[in-house]
Amino acid sequence: MAKLNLPVHKNQQLTGKVVDLTYQGNGVVKVDHYPIFIPNALSGEEISYVVTKTQRNFAWGRVVDWQTKSPDRVSLKDKRLLQTGIAPLGHLSYPAQLKFKQHQIAELVAKAHLNIEVLPTLGMDKPYHYRNKAQVPVKMVKGQLETGFYRRGSHHLVPIEDYYIQDPKLDQAIIVVRGLLRKFHVQPYDEQTGKGVIRTVMVRRGYYSHEMMVVLVTRTKHLPMKDEIVKGIVAGVPELKSLVQNINGARTNRLLGSTDHTLWGDPVIHDQLLGINFTISPRSFYQVNPQQTEKLYSKAIEAADLDGSQTVIDAYCGIGTISLAVAKHAKQVEGVEVVAEAVNDAKHNAKANGIHNAHFVTAKAEDQMAKWQQKGLKPDVLIVDPPRKGLDASLIEAAGKMAPQKVVYVSCNPATLVRDIQRWQVEGYHVAKPIQPVDMFPQTTHVESVTVLERTEK
Ligand code: SAH
Repeated sequence: MAKLNLPVHKNQQLTGKVVDLTYQGNGVVKVDHYPIFIPNALSGEEISYVVTKTQRNFAWGRVVDWQTKSPDRVSLKDKRLLQTGIAPLGHLSYPAQLKFKQHQIAELVAKAHLNIEVLPTLGMDKPYHYRNKAQVPVKMVKGQLETGFYRRGSHHLVPIEDYYIQDPKLDQAIIVVRGLLRKFHVQPYDEQTGKGVIRTVMVRRGYYSHEMMVVLVTRTKHLPMKDEIVKGIVAGVPELKSLVQNINGARTNRLLGSTDHTLWGDPVIHDQLLGINFTISPRSFYQVNPQQTEKLYSKAIEAADLDGSQTVIDAYCGIGTISLAVAKHAKQVEGVEVVAEAVNDAKHNAKANGIHNAHFVTAKAEDQMAKWQQKGLKPDVLIVDPPRKGLDASLIEAAGKMAPQKVVYVSCNPATLVRDIQRWQVEGYHVAKPIQPVDMFPQTTHVESVTVLERTEK
């Protein structure tokens, strides 16, 4: 391959001004229009940096020193939170994080030549310690069993005790488990050799219920010193309701295997969301920031403007959190979700809460929409909460034919949201209210929002 004629080379030390912050939270410095992405650098800062890696269209760099610092910079006491990607925006003040998220949506809206207002991001009063679930790898580091997080883009474990964004009760439980694994010489799983026992520790805690679940993910069915370890966890985690061993013998990055053994207590824990009870098993999806989920879903429900007479479709319904919260304000709710276990959870949760007007099917949302449309289902409101890739074009087309008056779009990716808004416009919909960002993942770069589309009268 011909040598590239790049304006910088590896190990070169330079100075420059940070002109932007990317969606991933990296600072951008430009040399002859060639961008260099630099972690832990903020817009406006003047820095000395070293080039760590070059590619055809961009390079990576590392800050050596700051000549000027951003007024939005806050000191993050533990740099490992940035290195690991636990808190990639942890060095940016919280008000600036909220603006960063609002601007991200606004910029994409403007780029698409759409004239839609984006409201300030709804944040948290205490934007840390919010996660109700932890899943941490266990590895041997320098001859000692450690729990922590991988350095960004690698499988190099960085030992951590204070995860900052997790419920501190989760952090405490991880330390208890780590101590027992060390004490009883349980071997961590080794990705290279495929040997060893313990792969991951997962911990969950109900925000309202305070019920705790610890899951030990092991490669082998046999867990050495099992009784002692169980006893130790029961004694060391006072709120424990469920202790489960999950067996994952596969040589993959997948976190959980398909077999669960309850070692102590119940196989599930419970929690509430908007006053509805949910049963959570080791493999259930459950929103990780319950306080902000309530805000987000309340916004979505408010936007749907229900008076008890409407038929609502909840596409991408997961375990039915939105469906069940909407059910008491609607005549009928139909949910669709592609993961069968989640649909089972949704059905179970409906029954357990005495909700009889919500029904769930396992299917791809795009296929099911077409089916419902052929069957003549006439929804008044369509709620969608798709994954990052956004809506399938065929879903929007089928939905257009069903002609719901309103579409409430909960999005976790502004790029696909903006693309989809344009597709809805083709189907005769317009954005009826400003877009409302809600910060579901403080200290990280994730951007969540609610958009209301209405059918344009013809
Ligand atoms: N509102 C839900 C979760 C939404 S997350 C809750 O709070 O529980 C997005 C969901 O879409 C996931 O549950 C994922 O399994 C599901 N999904 C992904 N692709 C899908 C598709 N093509 N059709 C239906 N569901 C899909």
